[in-house]
Amino acid sequence: MKSKHVKVVVRTRPTSDFANDILQISPETNSIHIHIPKNSESGFINNQQEDWDFKFDQILHNASQECIFDECGSPILKSLIDGYNGTILAYGQTGAGKTYTMTGTTENYVHRGLIPRIISQLYKEISNKTQMAITVRISYLEIYNEQMVDLLASLNDDETCTGALKIVDENIGPSLVKNLSLQIANTEEEALNLLFEGETNKSISEHQLNKNSSRSHCIFTIYLESRSRVESSEKVIYSKLNLVDLAGSERLSKTQTSGVSLQEAKYINKSLTFLEQVIIALSDKKRDHIPYRQSKLTNVLRDALGGNCNTLMIANIWGVKEHIEETISTLRFGTRMMCVANTPVVNVQYDPMALIKKYEREIKELKHELSMHDILNSKMNIQYEPYNDNQKYELRKQIKSYIENENEEIPIINVRQIKEIFNQFRKLYINLETENEENSKLLKHNANLNNQQANGNNDNSKQEHENNSNKSNSDKDDGVGDIEGGGFGIGVAPNGKTGKNTKEKSKKKGQSKVSSATNNASEKEKQEENLESSSQIFNSDPNNNNNTNNTNNTNDQESKLQELPLIQKVLNKENASSNFGSRVSFSPPNRSEEFEIFKRGNGAEMNKILTENKVILKEKKKIAKGYAECVNKIKAQIDDLRDIINKKKNDRNFDTNNTREVLDEDEFHLMQQMQILKQHYRSKYDSLKNCRVEVEYCLRLVDQCRQKLMQEFEAWYDSLYGSHIAESEGVATKINNSIGDQSKFKLDKINNQDSYTYYRAKKNVDKKNIRQTILKGRHSKIPPIPSSKTISTLI
Ligand code: ADP
Ligand code: MG
Repeated sequence: MKSKHVKVVVRTRPTSDFANDILQISPETNSIHIHIPKNSESGFINNQQEDWDFKFDQILHNASQECIFDECGSPILKSLIDGYNGTILAYGQTGAGKTYTMTGTTENYVHRGLIPRIISQLYKEISNKTQMAITVRISYLEIYNEQMVDLLASLNDDETCTGALKIVDENIGPSLVKNLSLQIANTEEEALNLLFEGETNKSISEHQLNKNSSRSHCIFTIYLESRSRVESSEKVIYSKLNLVDLAGSERLSKTQTSGVSLQEAKYINKSLTFLEQVIIALSDKKRDHIPYRQSKLTNVLRDALGGNCNTLMIANIWGVKEHIEETISTLRFGTRMMCVANTPVVNVQYDPMALIKKYEREIKELKHELSMHDILNSKMNIQYEPYNDNQKYELRKQIKSYIENENEEIPIINVRQIKEIFNQFRKLYINLETENEENSKLLKHNANLNNQQANGNNDNSKQEHENNSNKSNSDKDDGVGDIEGGGFGIGVAPNGKTGKNTKEKSKKKGQSKVSSATNNASEKEKQEENLESSSQIFNSDPNNNNNTNNTNNTNDQESKLQELPLIQKVLNKENASSNFGSRVSFSPPNRSEEFEIFKRGNGAEMNKILTENKVILKEKKKIAKGYAECVNKIKAQIDDLRDIINKKKNDRNFDTNNTREVLDEDEFHLMQQMQILKQHYRSKYDSLKNCRVEVEYCLRLVDQCRQKLMQEFEAWYDSLYGSHIAESEGVATKINNSIGDQSKFKLDKINNQDSYTYYRAKKNVDKKNIRQTILKGRHSKIPPIPSSKTISTLI
């Protein structure tokens, strides 16, 4: 928009003693020439200025009120209705006709001023603008001694508008003055009533404040709010017109005032000085700061001066000789005012409420179109609104089914549904996280309690272990033929494998048991090999009671350890039966498979040693078996030979009937043979004895190797899955312990936290006891190393 300077029009007050000799007005050229000859009394040589020339936009000399309206009021009013802000200022000395110009006289209709004429014309224009809905509001503000007075406050019904008037920095509303009452005027009459109401209040305040109208600035403002009746209703044009009757611009000395009036004059002059400063600042293009805030007047008029406003100043002059100085001063101010440039623009804004209504209407139409589109595509009952509670519940059920069944699919319908699915998943995830946190806290708490209980039971379990190990030792001492001792601890106890039974058998059979002992050993070896198979160690079926029933009394604890896979089953079962959204338990990997992996990886070295030792043990056993067979064979030969010799002896005694022993050659030869056989037997028996010691030693080594391998595996397994197992131990413990006491094995008690704690504590202690017993059994009473050869001793 093109900027234009503030228009300045000079109006002269008609007077009979107009100073034609010193003041020449040329309305054709809109110029004024003033010539004041030098005062001869002060000497001819002085710097006194004699001539002044002024040029303005227009000079209305002795013009009528109608002419003033046509020239000044009408163009700005037109712009106002088109949406441009406007300001008309009446400037000049007191008595120059400012009030007459703005308001006119109320007695005579012909002498009415700009304001009533503008009002009258405004409503005529509005009535012609049928395509626009225009609302008119009016405010009337007086500034006196830097105080603001709302001249229409008496009409306020609304108490909220009764607060002190305050100039706001941000132009939030149509007015810059907060709490200034804006009265709606629907007709010309209403608007004129407001003007007269304000005038009346001005007189009252004049009386109360001991002032007259020339000492205050009065701002009558008309606000328009225009909406098109045919175009979009959300587009609103706001415009306003300030009609300002300024206080008298005369100098203080001229008024010859004193007291209150002096104070008033100070303020009046001060605010006009500030107005002048603002005008000077605005006319200087290099200035970036405009001192609007120095006075109320400049602050209120800041958008009229140097803003987006059509501004016009009427410089009222009183062209008599005695006021020539004031006239010059007014004309000077007017000249400066002409340097101020404004950029008028239409103030278009958008009404938020109307915009919302418009968007709502658009959304409704689009939804309608969408449903039509769906129908054409054979899509029925598609949900576009946000889901309600019931619909959310149904969707949740669908999601649950989707999670539980791999083959399940959720048919995608539209974006709204996808968003709701994501929402539901988010909720589920948050729920799971919260529950897991709570569960781990609970498990931690229980673990602490269990540790305390376990420590309390430690002494008792130690005693028990000692008893067990003593018993085990005493069993081993007697086992002449039981060359392999006990089986592998963490397996199923082989049938009939107890130290006691073996001991009894060996006692009965005595030495002749050498052969059968060796056979028993090989049988046990087979059993042991079976036990070593990891599948038997970790995958024993808890429902298959063949093994556990046989060993219920002696190997309860060992068999309990075999029940570990049951944890897995129960956990899985619990997971499967758990409600949707409940906690997810960890399932530790299959121990047998892990054991195989371990044997190939971290435990490879130990496994190799174990295998080597087992090979050596096998060889030793084979040698021992050979010795045993040889010894038995020699013994049989000795027995046979003894029989022959005895028979010969009997026959000889019977023939000779002689008690004197006389050996014949055959007999002597047999005796010699017997002697050789006995030597042979003794030698072989010694070898067998030595070999059995070696076998025994190898057995222990193999046992220790196996134990070591298992310990390392346990440690490795715990390090990998320990924390997860701890979580599932609550269930596992119950199952393990329940094997020993079937009556307690009630899965439905799993949820009982008190029993959890109890069973787990018991299981921990039992487990510890079993391990200690096994270790003591394996490591105790290792015999001194015989003349063994190449057995690996890496343990
Ligand atoms: P101001 O408001 O500048 O102090 P007023 O408007 O009160 O001066 O004018 C002072 C007197 O002069 C009033 O009685 C008014 O009627 C009269 N007057 C001023 N200008 C004119 C004019 N152009 N025509 C007729 N009377 C005028
Ligand atoms: Mg006046």
